[in-house]
Amino acid sequence: MTASRDEIVVGVDLGGTKIEAVVVRVRPDGDFDVLARDRTDTRASEGYDAVLESAATVIARVEASAGVRARPIGVGMPGGVRRSDGAVKNSNATCLNGRPFREDLRAKLRRAIAFENDANCFALAEATLGAARAYRDGVVFGVIMGTGVGGGVVLQGRPWPGLHGIAGEWGHHPVRFGDDAEPCYCGQRGCLERYASGPALEARYAKLSGQRHSATEIAGMYETDPHAREALSSLCEAFGRGLATLVDVLDPSCVVLGGGLSNVALLYTEGVAAARAQVFNDELLTPVVKNALGDSAGVLGAAMLVAGERAHAG
Ligand SMILES: [Zn+2]
Repeated sequence: MTASRDEIVVGVDLGGTKIEAVVVRVRPDGDFDVLARDRTDTRASEGYDAVLESAATVIARVEASAGVRARPIGVGMPGGVRRSDGAVKNSNATCLNGRPFREDLRAKLRRAIAFENDANCFALAEATLGAARAYRDGVVFGVIMGTGVGGGVVLQGRPWPGLHGIAGEWGHHPVRFGDDAEPCYCGQRGCLERYASGPALEARYAKLSGQRHSATEIAGMYETDPHAREALSSLCEAFGRGLATLVDVLDPSCVVLGGGLSNVALLYTEGVAAARAQVFNDELLTPVVKNALGDSAGVLGAAMLVAGERAHAG
């Protein structure tokens, strides 16, 4: 999806503690300017109506400071909706769960609003404005590796949430089996997230060395500390297994990494080499790149939900 002219769109990133909103001008080639940016507390502890009020307030404020009004709005938020009744599920702003937040926000603001989960917004931002822009006419897989492991699929510039809204959820696919497979909170064993998340890297290092360090510190110690080296190799191996499966199933045009572990340089060399050794092909040409938009990807991706054709279709 590529717009044929400049567009001005509003994006909202609704997190458990903060709501951020931006007004963005997007050019057809994917260059963009942030015209205004604002944030406020989600006020989740004050309940459902307070969150609705917070979202409406920050949207009004950001539009006023950019000098625009009643633009299409895209909203990114954790979790999804139940297909049967539109109620929010799995949100970390727990007062939203089980409530028809999407419909209520639309009614409050009296305009069309597009919603996606935050992983899909990350993938959409990087696919249209960021590190995978060159591949936006293809399939981009956006990976989030931080406290958990998630992801999102973008197909020709549009998010592809899938039938159940779980497309891209590669973190709960097993990469270890048998006695080696650690139990996961999801009920399965050996999930990628148990080996390729920040907490997993920290736990592995602590088990090997008897000392605790953050994932960032461990990544910085790989040349001097053999335990860090081993923990990072284990991370790369698990990542490579997951990536090989992903490429076998989806064969994306580009994979872009986000989240705290996207700063681990070894993932792009050793991790990709591990995938190359396991993929069902004699070569692995998939570009695996680091995100370009950093923490802004979520809110920019939300804005991109309403760029292009859909903005005019409402
Ligand atoms: Zn799991």
